[in-house]
Amino acid sequence: MEILNYNCIGCLNRCRVEVQAEARELISIAGIRCKRGIELARRRLITPPAPFALPLRIVNGAASHIEARTSEPVPPDVARALTIAVRKLSFSAPIQAGAVLVQNVGGMGVDLIAVADAASVEPSASGVLAPSSPA
Ligand code: SF4
Repeated sequence: MEILNYNCIGCLNRCRVEVQAEARELISIAGIRCKRGIELARRRLITPPAPFALPLRIVNGAASHIEARTSEPVPPDVARALTIAVRKLSFSAPIQAGAVLVQNVGGMGVDLIAVADAASVEPSASGVLAPSSPA
């Protein structure tokens, strides 16, 4: 018997769901408030979670983006929702590898973590912009 606990992302209610499954077949589900939650649970069982990474925009950085990974594997529907949830966000350099950039993105129960350092760009004495490493 497999037991999954997660926040349904079918709408902003973000119901806390518990699913019991056997051989990826839904046996029981608790915590949902609508039938859509059942369909999403079935999809989640068919396409299991996988590691996911995406680029996030940074400002004042030597590079324009930093790669972030999810704190845990996510199913494809959560990966799509994460991509949409963060597309208007930007982060200020410097950033250290391992820093939590966003906690519990959109109530989905997943954090986004910086994969690498992102140096900031600071003006040098000559006025030329130069990269500086995270503290
Ligand atoms: S179970 Fe229904 S109400 Fe709850 S988050 Fe999912 S879609 Fe929304």
